[in-house]
Amino acid sequence: MTNPRIEINLKKIAHNTKTLVELYGSKGIAVVGVTKAVCGYPEIASVLVENGITTLGDSRLSNISRMQKAGVKARFLLLRSPMLSQAEEVINTADCSLNSEISVLKSLSKFALQLGVIHCVILMVELGDLREGLMPDNLHKTIAQILELKGLELVGLGTNLACMGGIIPDESKMNQLSSIATTIEEKFGIVLKIISGGNSANYRWFMHNAGIGRVNSLRLGESLLLGRETLHRKPIPGLFTDAFTLITEVIEAQIKPSLPFGDTGQNAFGNKPLFEDKGFMRRALVGIGQQDVMTSDLKPLSNVEILSASSDHVALNARATKLKVGQEVRFGINYSALLSLMTSPYVSKSIIE
Ligand SMILES: *Cc1c(COP(=O)(O)O)cnc(C)c1O
Repeated sequence: MTNPRIEINLKKIAHNTKTLVELYGSKGIAVVGVTKAVCGYPEIASVLVENGITTLGDSRLSNISRMQKAGVKARFLLLRSPMLSQAEEVINTADCSLNSEISVLKSLSKFALQLGVIHCVILMVELGDLREGLMPDNLHKTIAQILELKGLELVGLGTNLACMGGIIPDESKMNQLSSIATTIEEKFGIVLKIISGGNSANYRWFMHNAGIGRVNSLRLGESLLLGRETLHRKPIPGLFTDAFTLITEVIEAQIKPSLPFGDTGQNAFGNKPLFEDKGFMRRALVGIGQQDVMTSDLKPLSNVEILSASSDHVALNARATKLKVGQEVRFGINYSALLSLMTSPYVSKSIIE
């Protein structure tokens, strides 16, 4: 087996998927499975589909293509608002996209007409997090324009909170989205089939409110993959938080001082690090570094402590553990570590069934 590697437990992801599809489904909310954190890794995408998810969302067209080429059977939703320069590829690749710019929509319409397809559009509403979305006051004008565009079907409204501004998707935000949807339907005489209320941060809102208004879709990544809600990063009861494990290999294990010796300047990253003198200690180096992952996002699963890291090395205090060269050291990971480890070509991916 090639190290470092990320071990992917498909059974745990399957369990998380089934559980969340059932939970949200109990109130009529469909789950869109978000695959961007795993770069559209096809075996993982397939597990989502086999466990009740029919639409997969990803922010990158290359990830969507990767899943399609691997034969993953689903509808594909492009999550990141399309670049104007990507419009043709969006029509060629995705069934549906989240949008907020009329110039992009016009271009999507042009290519949809050329290709003879209907592309479905979810229009994003800005509710305060200040990422993508039209301010509510500007919605009506844009919708009037979209309804004139051929090749596009406006299927619904969406919002995204808790990502950039940390704004909580609470009852008031969700009610606002619902009432905007109803007003638009009445004004334009249309039906908005999909009201896409948010992401893994919507868990608390869902659990604590009897009414969910018009929201009938959520786009979930982290809670499916890592079993956590994302407002406080608390584990969701009954889900696995350890479907992914990082495995590294010891490349040096020696007893050395805990304090660097000699005159000190900057380290590799331009900092002047501080060290605590704990006398001589069992130190181990493992073969992974900042080029693969922010090592502060790693949590040792054995009794060792991360001391410092450079581009390609992590130094561990092995404490009482007698680590040997060639031995493996395992780490639990969070969402940012998952993102970068799955993206790093230097980290091999290993599926356990
Ligand atoms: C990434 C993303 C999601 C998924 O977020 P999680 O916190 O992983 O559930 C949902 N919607 C959009 C638009 C996204 O970009």
